[in-house]
Amino acid sequence: MQLHTQQYIDGRWCRAANGARLPVVNPSTEEVLAEIDAGSAADVDLAVRAAARAFRSWRSTSGAERAQYLRAIARGVEARGEHLATLQSLNNGKPLEEARIDVGDVIATFDYYAGLAEALDVTAESEVTIPSAEHRAVIRREPAGVVGLIVPWNFPMVTTAWKLAPALAAGCAVVLKPSEVTPLPELELAAIVAETGLPAGVFNVVTGTGAEVGAPLAAHPLVAKVSFTGSTGVGQTVMKTAADTLKGVSLELGGKSSIIVCADADLDLAVDLVAGGAFFNAGQMCSATSRVLVERPIAAALTARLADRAGRTVVGDPFLPGVQMGPLTSRAQLERVRRYIGEGKEQGARLVTGGESPVGAGYFITPALFIDVPTDSSIWREEIFGPVLCVRGFDTEEEAIDTANDTDFGLVATVVTRDAARGKRIADALAAGVVWINAPQLIFPQTSWGGYKRSSIGRELGPFGLAAFQEIKQVLTAIGHP
Ligand code: NAD
Repeated sequence: MQLHTQQYIDGRWCRAANGARLPVVNPSTEEVLAEIDAGSAADVDLAVRAAARAFRSWRSTSGAERAQYLRAIARGVEARGEHLATLQSLNNGKPLEEARIDVGDVIATFDYYAGLAEALDVTAESEVTIPSAEHRAVIRREPAGVVGLIVPWNFPMVTTAWKLAPALAAGCAVVLKPSEVTPLPELELAAIVAETGLPAGVFNVVTGTGAEVGAPLAAHPLVAKVSFTGSTGVGQTVMKTAADTLKGVSLELGGKSSIIVCADADLDLAVDLVAGGAFFNAGQMCSATSRVLVERPIAAALTARLADRAGRTVVGDPFLPGVQMGPLTSRAQLERVRRYIGEGKEQGARLVTGGESPVGAGYFITPALFIDVPTDSSIWREEIFGPVLCVRGFDTEEEAIDTANDTDFGLVATVVTRDAARGKRIADALAAGVVWINAPQLIFPQTSWGGYKRSSIGRELGPFGLAAFQEIKQVLTAIGHP
């Protein structure tokens, strides 16, 4: 299999200025898949300057022209879909079926923002009614400039598409920094972008670590805006760095989300939604609904069904048919999840099933289910980012809402009930950016993504995702003056 391992700067594949390399590991086998370029501040500077040069003409292309590139990227991803899914499974460890969903999401995102780019030819400039007959006021939405995109390893191509598509649609020039853990799908995506003939410098990729590449990108004075997805701690660092040059930031960070299962819920549906919300992508989801709040009358029944489901989950090689959960994506992540499972036991929660790693290579762990979880324990309060489910009973709707909202985060929530009015009431009261009622975690690019509190600054997807890469300019003209 041909793998791209170099950086893509100013329309060319190139080696890191200092010649350094980083290994990329297959989490299922612990074998080294490839060595990629380990960039540094020098490469970031080259890429940002290339983007700044390209921006001068790219910013004035028509929306229709930019839409053609976005659609060409979508078609390229479609044509290489199986290869991209394979890379995603190889590098991240997710089952091939899940990787195919990621590919579909990437295609849908580029197609959606192609439509918004076209619409900009009409909507980017709009006249405003003002109380003066002697003046004409126009509001223009303009591209923000050179933008730095920094993404994590859990949904590599998807988190990138959610930033790259609206950034290009808006007319920004981009420097992308993929996760050093999972750069292979993004580098293939870069090859697809390159084949569309996008002008050199409009899109650049610098690979390497957060400290060597991410930090200088967030600090670079020619970068107008940084859009970051990753952990809350690093997001705070990025925001502090960006403050030095007062650049804009969009942050998509961690979560500690709840699924509330009411006593009238369809139990089969509830089990599917809880398992999907906690074990999809091996639980490595910012949107993981890892806290289950179940109404007391059905608590024992739901817990028994969940323990059974967790125990029967097929964990293994992501390429084998029937496998439902692959390995965690890195050794560091496996160690983190094991540490939390240990803390859960020490802090008084009861492990009903799972949390075991088979002997042999690979970062595998079986899905874990805790009950009797104290609300001050670390497994209840902190983002674990692994297949660890914590169940608590509740007696009243108010208690469920208060417990769900009792977190520093506020990304998503799910409500399972047959009572539509109750579902709406609970959804209204939850401090979360997305609420699913009786639905799996579907995310359509037309909607929105992001959360309350420490989960996000700003929103991605929908028109919000585009607005994040635009500046607003007002032009006021005195009428009658040549
Ligand atoms: P991370 O914060 O460790 O890394 C994210 C990216 O930031 C990587 O590319 C990394 O190299 C880079 N980085 C690290 N240090 C940096 C620095 N000082 N300056 C600039 N960049 C730096 O996160 P991760 O472990 O890759 O991903 C897991 C986290 O991502 C979880 O907390 C998860 O909740 C979050 N996440 C959030 C969303 C969302 O939409 N809210 C989506 C996916 C993942």
